[in-house]
This record gives sequence, structure tokens and C-alpha cells, in this order.
Amino acid sequence: MLTLGIDIGSTTSKCVLLEDGERIIGTELLVAGIGTIGAEKIMETVLKKAKLSRNDIDYVMATGYGRRNFDPANGELSELSCHAKGVLFTNPQVRTIIDIGGQDAKVLRINDKGILENFMMNDKCAAGTGRFLDVMANILQMPVNELEKRAELAEKPAKISSTCTVFAESEVISQLATGETVENVIAGICNSVASRVAGLAKRVGIKEEVFMSGGVAQNGGVRKALEKELKVPIKWSETSQMMGALGAAISAYEQVKKRGVLNE
Ligand code: ADP
Repeated sequence: MLTLGIDIGSTTSKCVLLEDGERIIGTELLVAGIGTIGAEKIMETVLKKAKLSRNDIDYVMATGYGRRNFDPANGELSELSCHAKGVLFTNPQVRTIIDIGGQDAKVLRINDKGILENFMMNDKCAAGTGRFLDVMANILQMPVNELEKRAELAEKPAKISSTCTVFAESEVISQLATGETVENVIAGICNSVASRVAGLAKRVGIKEEVFMSGGVAQNGGVRKALEKELKVPIKWSETSQMMGALGAAISAYEQVKKRGVLNE
């Protein structure tokens, strides 16, 4: 059986093609703003690479911000369920998931039966999300994937005290103007995101093992700052950003199994 999970996020569309609910046979990712054009493109690409067509796929499950408007999908599911499913599939011993995406941050607590028992989300404010990092990277005129290695070179992380992204932007500009090093400022930016998300995580309650999903997991500066704040090791993987799409593909498989309907 072939299922496809597609995560239509605020900045990036991700998809995972799954065989029999356990073998990943294709993945695609495209940085594209909200809307389903990115999703359509990656679905086309993943199918083409696997020499398949939409009719070969038994169920397409959509998740993420754009999930309700994606016509090729058979169903849609919340990101919370999908991230939990994706992470537990690859790391069954995880009990806390910290998901920082382009527009929100979520902390999920999983019980010993693998069921989501508590969560908290910040989707009201850009601080503590990938958006904050994207805005700052833009001011510093560097890609977000460079922030990690520059943060590592910091001698004394700058203190970014503004909790609002707009004010933090002015703060960063004035710190640079008064001679603070770019490296110290970047480390301060990573610390600022980590401190916001750590607040959320402490309210949910941390239970080991802790795993970071979402695109920001790739930023070691934020990961290390979170480990320091929460005083626990944080696991992640190169495919952390794909966890929602993977969970959606697994849910699609479970859906077909439950209904016994193929190629509906
Ligand atoms: P969404 O689903 O909302 O689009 P993602 O989970 O895909 O969010 O994460 C997107 C965020 O991940 C971006 O805002 C960016 O800050 C961060 N990001 C993406 N790629 C990288 C990278 N290579 N290194 C560091 N951060 C990254």
C-alpha cells in the first residue's frame, strides 16, 4: 500500500511517500509560502521520482497550515497528531516533543502508551518561532542555516531583552551599530528563541527523552541554548523538519487499514 503525507507549512512544504506504513520511499521539501502551489509541486516531484502517479497512491493525508485547501488530499489531520506520530515512529522512547516551525512553536507531552496527553502552543507571537530567526537572518544578510556556525563563535552572547520581534529587530540593529560582534548578537538571538520556548516547555512539563522537530531543529544554536535552559539533552535528526509529513503518511496508512478502502 502506498500513502503520502504532505505538510503544508507557513514557510515550507514537505512530503513523505510511504510504502506499507513503514518504508519511506521518497521525500521532498520546498521553501514556499502559504498556499498550495509548493505542495502541488513537491507531490508531483516525489511521484515522478518514484515513477508513480496520483492514482497509485491509496491515501493522501494533508497537515499544516494549508491542509484544508489542498484538493488532492483524501483527508487532513492536525500537526500535533502528525508530529507526535512521526517522532514516535522514529524514536519511540520520546516523551516530550518541541516543535519549532516557521510561524509557531509547540511543546507536546506523550504518555507511556504513546498518546498525546498535554501540549502548549505559541502561535500568537513571532518571538520564539522560526519567523524571529528568519527576520534576524534577513537583517544580518545571511541565510538561516548560517546562524548556527556563527553563534558557535560567540565570546559572550548579547542580551536581547525585547520580547517583541519588531522591537528586537531595532535592538539588534542598535547593538551592531554600537560595536557588538555579529557572533555575539546571533548567539543572543538563538538564546532569545530558546528562552521563549523553554517557558512553554516548563509549563507543559518536561519528561525525557526530549526530541526537537520542525525546521528550527536544524539550528544547533537554538538546540544547545534549549538544552542549557531545560537542563536535559535534546535529540534531533536531519529529518526533524519532515516529522509532520511522516506522521501524516503513517496516519494515511492507518486510515486505509481501518476503512479497508484502497484508491478511493
Ligand atoms: P513551517 O511548517 O511553518 O513552514 P518548518 O517546520 O518547516 O515550518 O520550519 C521552518 C523554519 O525552519 C524556518 O522559519 C527557518 O527559521 C528554519 N529553518 C529551515 N531550514 C533551516 C536550516 N537549514 N537551518 C536552520 N534553520 C532552518
